[in-house]
Amino acid sequence: MSLSSASSLVVDLIDLGRKAGSMIEVERTVQAPEDLGIAVIGVPQGSDLSLTVRIESLEQGVLATGSVHAHLVGECARCLDEITSDVDQTFQELFFYEDQPLEDEDEEVLRFGGDELDLEPILRDLIVTALPLAPVCRDDCPGLCSECGARLADDPTHKHDIIDARWAALLDVQAQEPEL
Ligand SMILES: [Zn+2]
Ligand SMILES: [Zn+2]
Repeated sequence: MSLSSASSLVVDLIDLGRKAGSMIEVERTVQAPEDLGIAVIGVPQGSDLSLTVRIESLEQGVLATGSVHAHLVGECARCLDEITSDVDQTFQELFFYEDQPLEDEDEEVLRFGGDELDLEPILRDLIVTALPLAPVCRDDCPGLCSECGARLADDPTHKHDIIDARWAALLDVQAQEPEL
């Protein structure tokens, strides 16, 4: 059964054939698969993910050249506010036919059956490695107060007067003295 459809990241190569030099172009928007991201930021499952790819038939396999665009939702590493942004990545990958012997068998290469090409694994790597490990809502986000958790962006002068207990006692005495 073929997994290929206009709503997936699997591209049907029936029309391409194995004739070196032939080429197909695919442009589609699919629903993002689950877990496309890291803990702090990622592409929401089911959101639009746009793919444009040109697949060229070569002697030993195919060359896929394209770009991917998706929306990101995450959390600021400093103030925990929601962040939304986009990811745009381009790629060029060579996939070898499964039955194609290689000169160097130890070489790590991408393999595929020939009838269809599943781009999800390479797109997943491409997007996940492009994500910031500590995304911020803005470069100068001041984050949260380490004492009480208040958002410092809302209150730039926020601070706590941390008073030593002994001084506090002294201040109490001063406060009780009658004014002259
Ligand atoms: Zn922030
Ligand atoms: Zn505080």
